[in-house]
Amino acid sequence: MKIYNTESKQKEEFVPIEEGKVRMYVCGPTVYNLIHIGNARPMIVFDTVRRYFEYKGYQVNYVSNFTDVDDKIIKKALEEGVDASVISERYIAECKKDMQGMNVKPATTHPQATQEIDGMIAMISTLIEKGFAYVAADGTVYFRTRKFDYYGKLSHKNLDDLRSGFRNLQVSGEEQKEDPLDFVLWKPKKDGEPYWESPWCQGRPGWHIECSVMSKRYLGDQIDIHAGGEDLIFPHHENEIAQSEAANGKEFTHYWMHNAFLNIDNRKMSKSLGNFFTVRDISEKYDLQVLRFFMLSAHYRSPLNFSDELMKAAESGLNRIITAAGNLKDKAAKAENTELSDVEKELLSQADTYRAKFEEVMEDDFNTADAIAAVFDLVRFINTEIADGKSHSGAFLNKLYAELSTLTDVLGIIIEKEEEILAEDIEKLIEERQAARKNKDFARADAIRNELLEKGIILEDTREGVKWKKA
Ligand code: AMP
Ligand code: ZN
Repeated sequence: MKIYNTESKQKEEFVPIEEGKVRMYVCGPTVYNLIHIGNARPMIVFDTVRRYFEYKGYQVNYVSNFTDVDDKIIKKALEEGVDASVISERYIAECKKDMQGMNVKPATTHPQATQEIDGMIAMISTLIEKGFAYVAADGTVYFRTRKFDYYGKLSHKNLDDLRSGFRNLQVSGEEQKEDPLDFVLWKPKKDGEPYWESPWCQGRPGWHIECSVMSKRYLGDQIDIHAGGEDLIFPHHENEIAQSEAANGKEFTHYWMHNAFLNIDNRKMSKSLGNFFTVRDISEKYDLQVLRFFMLSAHYRSPLNFSDELMKAAESGLNRIITAAGNLKDKAAKAENTELSDVEKELLSQADTYRAKFEEVMEDDFNTADAIAAVFDLVRFINTEIADGKSHSGAFLNKLYAELSTLTDVLGIIIEKEEEILAEDIEKLIEERQAARKNKDFARADAIRNELLEKGIILEDTREGVKWKKA
C-alpha cells in the first residue's frame, strides 16, 4: 500500500509500526459553530482511509480531537453570556450528528483539549527542563524553535525567509520572544476567559500543544499516520513535530497525509471568508450520502470545487448504484436457491476483477475517484446479469450483492435504504387487523402483526384499543 507523505513529498510503501495495527491521528474541528463542508472533507477522506485499512484486516486506533478552548469559542460564549463549555458541548453534539449523517465512524477516541490540561502541563514542563521552551516575564511559555534542528522539515520552508516575514508582522507580546518563529505553549488568562492553574501563570494552552499531548496519550510517542487539511501543514503540524520530538526524543509520525481544499469559485471555503455552506445547509437539499460521494469523487490531494452541478452528478451516480443494489436484491429474493453453476462461477471470477481494480487504485494513495469507477464497472456488470431474460441462482445473486456492498462499505456508502414506515400506514394495517379478528381470520391478523414487527413496530392490545410503538 502506498501513501503520499507530505514530509518526503513522495509516495512511500506503508509499513506499520506494529504489525496489523494502524495508529492514526486526525486533527479535528474547533467547535464554535456548525461545521462547514470544507471541514467535512478531512472527516470523510480519512474515515475512508480508516475503512480501507479495516477492510485489509488492520486494527485501526483512530484518534480525532475537538478543540474546545479557543478565542472564537470564548467570544461566542461572551456574546451569549454562557460558559465556554456550553458552546463547545453544543457544537460537539451537532458535529457528531453531522458525522453520523455522512456515515463517518466515531473515532476510537475523541479527546477534548479542556480534559487534557494535566498532560499539556507535563509536556510543557519537560520541554522547559530540556531547554526547548522558556518562560517570559508575563508567564507566557514559548517553544524555542532554533533549538530544534529539524524545524521546517515538514513544510519545507526556508527558516530565514520565515523569520524576516514574521519580523514585519509584529504583534503585541512578540518582543518578549527570543526568535520570531517561537510559538506559544501556554499563555496568561485575560479577564472573563476560562483558565487553569499552572506552574507559570493562571492561563490556558496554545493550540498546537493539545495534539502532541493527545496523540502521545492515546497512541504513544510514535504514530503511523497524522492527517488533516493542508492548511495545517504550517504552522500547526510543523509545531506539533517540534513539540513531540523535542519532548519524547523520538520521530513522531511516519506518514503525514493532507487533503487539499474544498473550494467554492476556486477559493478555499472558510468561515472567515464567509463563502461556506454548513453540512446542515446541505442536508436540507441532499441526502448527506450524496455529499460523501461527491467528496470521494476526487482524489483527496486534488482541490475540489463545490457546485450544485457536481452535487447533482454525484446524486445521480449514487442513485445508479443504489438502484442496481435494490434490483439485485429483489431478483435474489425471487430466485431459486440452487447451487452455483459453472457459468456462474466463471462470471463471479469476472466480478472479482472489479474488486482487484478497486484494491489496486485504493492502494495507490487512496485514489477514491478511480475506486468509484471500479464500483461503476461492477454496477454495469450487475445490471447486465439481472436484465430481463437472464436467470441466475440465488447463490450467485447474493454473492454479487455481497461484493457490491463490501466495496461500497469501504467508501462508507450505504446502499441499503432502511424502509421507513409511515404512521398512517401503520394505522391502516391496525384497522385491517381489527377487521380480520372480527371475521375470525386470525391467520391474517397474525400476519399483519408479524409484518409490522419486521418493520420494527410492536403492537399492544390494551383496554383502550390497539397501541403501537417502535421497537
Ligand atoms: P478548523 O476547525 O478550521 O481547525 O478545521 C478543521 C479541519 O478542517 C482541518 O483539518 C482543516 O484543515 C480542515 N479544513 C478547513 N477548511 C477546509 C477546506 N475548505 N477544505 C478542506 N479542508 C478544510
Ligand atoms: Zn492538530
